[in-house]
Amino acid sequence: MARRKQIYEGKAKILFEGPEPGTIIQYFKDDATAFNNQKKAVLEGKGVLNNRISEFVMMGLERIGVPTHFIKRLNMREQLVRHVEIVPLEVVVRNYAAGSISKRLGIEDGVALPRSVIEFYFKNDELGDPLVSEEHITAFNWANPQEIDDMMALALRVNDYLSGLFAGVGIKLVDFKIEFGRQYEGDMMRLIVADEISPDSCRLWDMETGHIMDKDRFRQDLGDVTDAYREVARRLGVLREAESSGQSGPVLVSDNEK
Ligand code: 5GP
Repeated sequence: MARRKQIYEGKAKILFEGPEPGTIIQYFKDDATAFNNQKKAVLEGKGVLNNRISEFVMMGLERIGVPTHFIKRLNMREQLVRHVEIVPLEVVVRNYAAGSISKRLGIEDGVALPRSVIEFYFKNDELGDPLVSEEHITAFNWANPQEIDDMMALALRVNDYLSGLFAGVGIKLVDFKIEFGRQYEGDMMRLIVADEISPDSCRLWDMETGHIMDKDRFRQDLGDVTDAYREVARRLGVLREAESSGQSGPVLVSDNEK
């Protein structure tokens, strides 16, 4: 394979220059990090699963008219995506209390929130991604008021889509984090969903048993992290039913992998 120019290496992904201007190749690593990089591990097969789950979700979003950076999956670990200017915010939508909102506001884990709550965090590892208000966002020019409105509207559409998708396979969508990018076409700019949507960035609980099926298994040392991700993929139909119980790693539905 020809050498490609690496643009950026993050905690769970590497970005390479794409084959055409305006495109990027997003490579999913097996690395897992938590608590702002203090906890690290390599979870074999995680990248393959997240690549497939994120592909599945992004394609579903495109189908309902939510624009995303996803163009196509290239192989087991890579997808071709649109080049965007990332908005330096993590947009979190919460349906039930868990994680930082439970701690911050003293709400018991699992309590249904009166309505879906949207939060913004400033993407900054050194600061530990602090919670920020719209005042901060506009004052520091991370996004303008129109962009904030657009991100909130899109985040709620993503929440409706994901909640239904996961409910259909017996999974409760507790919360999730998405990122947005600015895509420029001539004079036009639009915000599109970027990064990934996977068990690394969502809280997913089995509706019947409450079993945790997301990155909290890693954060809380619960074990069987990739098994849980594999089960999410299996329920979404990304893995073949007959092979999903095997321990030898994910078996994918299509055979066009290289
Ligand atoms: P919390 O604020 O409760 O820690 O996280 C809320 C939701 O956003 C959880 O689903 C969590 O996985 C996700 N999230 C928050 N920050 C990050 C991050 O830096 N990376 C990833 N992948 N997900 C995050």
